[in-house]
This record gives sequence, C-alpha cells and structure tokens, in this order.
Amino acid sequence: MAAAKVAVVGAGVIGLSTAQCIMETCPGCSLTVLSDQFSPNTTSDVAAGMLIPHTCPGTPPHLQKQWFRETFTYLFAISSSAEASEAGVHLVSGWQVFKNPPKEELPFWSDVVLGFRPMSQAELQKFPQHQFGQAFTTLKCDCPPYLLWLEKRLKAAGVQMQTRKVAALWELSSEYNVVVNCAGIGAHQLVGDEKLFPIRGQVLQVDAPWVKNFIRDGDGLTYIYPGIHRVTLGGTREKDNWNLSPDPGAAKDILERCCSLEPSLRGAQEIKVKVGLRPARQGVRLQREVLSQGGVKLLVVHNYGHGAGGFSVHRGTAKEAARLVGECIAALQDSSSRAKL
Ligand code: FAD
Repeated sequence: MAAAKVAVVGAGVIGLSTAQCIMETCPGCSLTVLSDQFSPNTTSDVAAGMLIPHTCPGTPPHLQKQWFRETFTYLFAISSSAEASEAGVHLVSGWQVFKNPPKEELPFWSDVVLGFRPMSQAELQKFPQHQFGQAFTTLKCDCPPYLLWLEKRLKAAGVQMQTRKVAALWELSSEYNVVVNCAGIGAHQLVGDEKLFPIRGQVLQVDAPWVKNFIRDGDGLTYIYPGIHRVTLGGTREKDNWNLSPDPGAAKDILERCCSLEPSLRGAQEIKVKVGLRPARQGVRLQREVLSQGGVKLLVVHNYGHGAGGFSVHRGTAKEAARLVGECIAALQDSSSRAKL
C-alpha cells in the first residue's frame, strides 16, 4: 500500500499536538492539517494555558491523571530546554486559595505538579478573605507562541497546512485514508454532536511585570496567571453562550475581582480583552469510528471536547489519538495485503 494519507481537521492545541504525535509515531504517512482558522484566531489562542486540570465527570479519573502527567512531563522537558523561550513554556509557582476548605484536600493531580503543600499561615496573610490554600509549582504555555512553535515544527517535518473549512468529514473520503477530528467547538456542527456545548470565557491580558506568582481562587472563576510577557486575568464561565464579542461589564468585574486578590494590579497597563468558547462535554471524545457510504469506508479518529482543560491534557490525548491513527493505518495495510492474495 502507498503511504497512508492522514488529515487532521483543526489547528488549535489539540489538532497541532495530535499532528505532532502522528508524525512521531507514524513517520511513513503523508500528513495534512486542514483548518478554517490558525493561530492567532483559535480558542486555544485565548486560553491562559495553565497546567491545572479540570475534573471531567465523563472521563475515568485514572485517564485524566495519565493525560495530565504525560503533558506535564513533556512540557517540563521543554521548559528546561533551549526551546523554552520560543515555545513560550515556563514554570510558575503560586497559590490556590479557598474561602472554605475544599471537600477534596488533595486533588488528583497534586503529586504531578511540583512541591504541592498546604499554605503556611504567613502566606495566607496575603489573602485576608481566604482561610485555606495550597501552594505548588506548575507549568504554563504562553498560547500563541506555543501554537506557532508547534506549527513551525510540523512544517519543518513536511506536514502540509491548508486553510479550508470542512463541511462534513465525508467530503475528505476521496483524498484521505484517515481523518482526525480535532475541531474543538466546531465539532458541534461538523459531526452534529449535541453533547458538545460552549462555555464562553472572557479574560484580560495586561502588562504587570512585577506579578510573578499565580493566584487562583479555588472556585476557578477568578485567577491571575503570569506569562513570560503578559499576565492573564480571569475570568467568566457562561454555559451555552456562543457570543464572541467582549462584554465591557464583565471586563470591569474581572479586573475588580483580580484586584481584590492582588491589589497591586490596580497599576496594570495595556488591558486587552479576549473571548473564547471552551468545547465542553461530559467527557473528551477520543475514539475511532468507521464512516461508510455505498461500500466506501473512511476511518475517523475523534479527539475533541476538552472543555476548560485542553492545555492541561493535550499531549496525553494527542498520544492516544496518534495510537488510534496507527491502528487505522495497520488495519488499512492489512486489508490491502489481503486484497492482493
Ligand atoms: P480550538 O482551539 O478551538 O481549535 C479548533 C480548531 O478547529 C480551530 O483551528 C478551528 O478553526 C478548527 N475548526 C473547527 N471547525 C472546523 C471545520 N468545520 N473545518 C475546518 N476547521 C475547523 N485550558 C487549560 O488547560 N488551561 C487554561 O489555563 C485554560 N484557560 C482557558 C481560558 C479561556 C478564556 C478559555 C476560553 C479556555 C481556556 N482553556 C484552558 C481551555 C482550552 O482553551 C481548550 O480546552 C482548548 O483550547 C481546546 O483546544 P482545541 O484545539 O480542541 O480547540
């Protein structure tokens, strides 16, 4: 059989990292990334890119932990390499603070991040409205640089990048042997997944270079995440809201909430507002499917629905999607050699 032709639909963090894992595990295939938008115009560009997982009720906890660990290990190595600055990947230490102690004192990811411990009374003095907190060091991707770094590596390895809106996966059946669906919230329309819904998120990006530690309110709604150049302030969480226009009232509220956690942010400059739609689902859809029409088959791998935590698990889910693509290619080779007998 000639080299298998594989198309990845989507150029957010999930599509690009999945393409990268396919390239690493199936080096003989011909790979194309098709997407109607590339960086800086994807949801992934809006994200803060912090590695703090969100619990996903429909995905088994051991898988969530495995995906997080694989992503953490991968990015930890990048953060110590000469690529760190171009990739926008760095370690960041800080605090997660709670008004009331959480039900779960040790989150499932506490032994993956570095140095997880309860905050001392001295540290808690910084947060007079909070009674309990956890200190740890995690990783952060500065999102547009990380996406551009992934794209650059893919292009250097010969992967084609094509701007194209795909109306239905089947339209790719005459050109490709395997199609990988990494369309994020776009999968709602692309494959008619009614279980997928948007959770609108608005954040601010500000200049506040003196802020070096992250601060996250335990409810996950208010957060301050310092990047290499800018600080991300969040946020909002609005289920089933498809509106991508910034809301000035919400922007003011985010700044107020963040200033009450870190009053020095009153001096922040150059405030920019960004909005994105988190692709939410009970669980990530990571599975194979065979589409067929009139005796013709198209092998599909789905990898979407990462909700509020796509950066935190992207490398783990990309590795699993690439393994499924490898299974599809093996099945194609098997049926082509049987046809020759
Ligand atoms: P996307 O980035 O949306 O990419 C989907 C791609 O598919 C795009 O390129 C799009 O153009 C393409 N596409 C869609 N439909 C079609 C079609 N029909 N034809 C062709 N192409 C198509 N996660 C974290 O882990 N940590 C954080 O700190 C964090 N902060 C966040 C803050 C905000 C405000 C938001 C909104 C999200 C945040 N997230 C965070 C979540 C994270 O952004 C998502 O989980 C992740 O970006 C999803 O990536 P994706 O590649 O699936 O989707």
